[in-house]
Amino acid sequence: MSFKVAIIGRPNVGKSTLFNRLVGKKLALVDDTPGVTRDRRVHAAKLHDLHFDVIDTAGFEDAAASTLPGRMRQQTEIAIREADLIFFTVDAKSGLMPDDRTFAEVVRKSGKPVVLVANKAEARGAQGGLLEAWELGLGEPIPVSAEHGQGMPDLRDAVVEALGEERTLGEDEDGSDEIAASEVLIGEDIADPDAEPAYDDTKPLRIAVVGRPNAGKSTLINALIGEERLLTGPEAGITRDSISVDWDWRGRRIKLFDTAGMRRKSKVQEKLEKLSVQDGLRAIRFAEIVIIVLDATIPFEKQDLQIADLIIREGRAPVIAFNKWDLIDNPQELLAELREKTGRLLPQVRGIQAVTVSAETGRGLDKLMESVIKTHRVWNSRVSTGKLNRWLEGILTHHPPPAVAGRRLKIKYVTQAKTRPPGFVVSCSRPDAMPQSYVRYLSNSLREAFDMPGVPIRMALRTSD
Ligand code: GDP
Ligand code: GDP
Repeated sequence: MSFKVAIIGRPNVGKSTLFNRLVGKKLALVDDTPGVTRDRRVHAAKLHDLHFDVIDTAGFEDAAASTLPGRMRQQTEIAIREADLIFFTVDAKSGLMPDDRTFAEVVRKSGKPVVLVANKAEARGAQGGLLEAWELGLGEPIPVSAEHGQGMPDLRDAVVEALGEERTLGEDEDGSDEIAASEVLIGEDIADPDAEPAYDDTKPLRIAVVGRPNAGKSTLINALIGEERLLTGPEAGITRDSISVDWDWRGRRIKLFDTAGMRRKSKVQEKLEKLSVQDGLRAIRFAEIVIIVLDATIPFEKQDLQIADLIIREGRAPVIAFNKWDLIDNPQELLAELREKTGRLLPQVRGIQAVTVSAETGRGLDKLMESVIKTHRVWNSRVSTGKLNRWLEGILTHHPPPAVAGRRLKIKYVTQAKTRPPGFVVSCSRPDAMPQSYVRYLSNSLREAFDMPGVPIRMALRTSD
């Protein structure tokens, strides 16, 4: 598998040095003078086991575009056209410059997969620049030293993560679902740090429906899409292929992934459960929102919780459908019990949307879809650094971090590094010493302050130097 990488960044961040490092020869001219005109070069490059082509975009700089923005725009345009992956390079030693932010935005908008390379990371004081790089909203900065060849294994891993294993390692797995899964991963962590962009409801919302056998997934899907497209039935042994279905709900485009029938081949219970978790995983990776169908007559079995746990770990947002509600004769009582259990068993997604439905009668399905869309909005939500730090001020006044071994832990600032799901970076004095309970407190408080119920929230602690 071959792919092309473009190294993008303002002058002097070390693009040519990185290029040389990857190509393994002194090909590009390295110069302290920004903007030295170079030839266009595309060369075979190697990063551990990965083989690819790298474009030295510095070679595209020409006199006609003599201003810095002109040159950068050219580079970026070329990258967009030619590259499969962009190494957006910043200088961790000098820290971010306004140009870094401007062009990060251009790169981000291009939608191309990006690896954020924080170069010169070996230099003294680079830690601050590395932390700052999170603010670009291009995902996790990978600290490297192009000059000294440090950080290359992490860079390699970041490439694999950005493009997927199939493309980078050339191992084609068994089917189209895997391709769908890698599509989901590409470009997803990219987010603009300060804007709070309007929620995009034009793209199809990808939903998976998961749950134990017989919970009523197929019946639910049929009821949702309004056609008897899938087979349902109580008898074990029915086999179907997993399929995806496109449909519209109140004008909203939906792509729905169903794994329902796949697991009924085997009559051995143990094997059956294992299979269904694997199917679940495929579906979960495909999806943005995962509807967990629980049989309300026997909810929260071990396997249900396993599936919920998978969804949360994969960073997808779950919505619960308590199905077969038509069979329940003490609905009030049961609902109270289920609410309590949900909160207790799934604290990582506090405020999760849980809806009582009957796939058979169609009751509650509109409410279910409303909950899906609500959750999808939250999953995509973004809080500006300004708002976060005003919130942080309040926290530090009223519930500051504890002292550890006599020294009070300090938090400098918080920034949202990604969406889908929301992920935050907390810059603090001693990440290792910060108690988990305090991190949980921060995350719960964030969830409440910015109204983000029911989705996983990621918190990363970084040292503030
Ligand atoms: P470009 O303009 O982005 O292509 O940057 P160059 O590759 O020409 O590098 C600019 C300057 O940064 C040169 O003086 C390099 O020696 C220096 N440089 C590049 N990589 C590193 C690094 O990893 N660490 C340090 N400390 N300096 C570097
Ligand atoms: P799947 O294995 O999760 O796809 O489950 P199915 O959709 O095949 O449903 C399993 C059984 O439960 C079938 O007999 C359905 O008719 C029944 N079922 C599904 N939803 C409901 C519901 O809301 N109420 C009742 N009473 N039965 C249901």
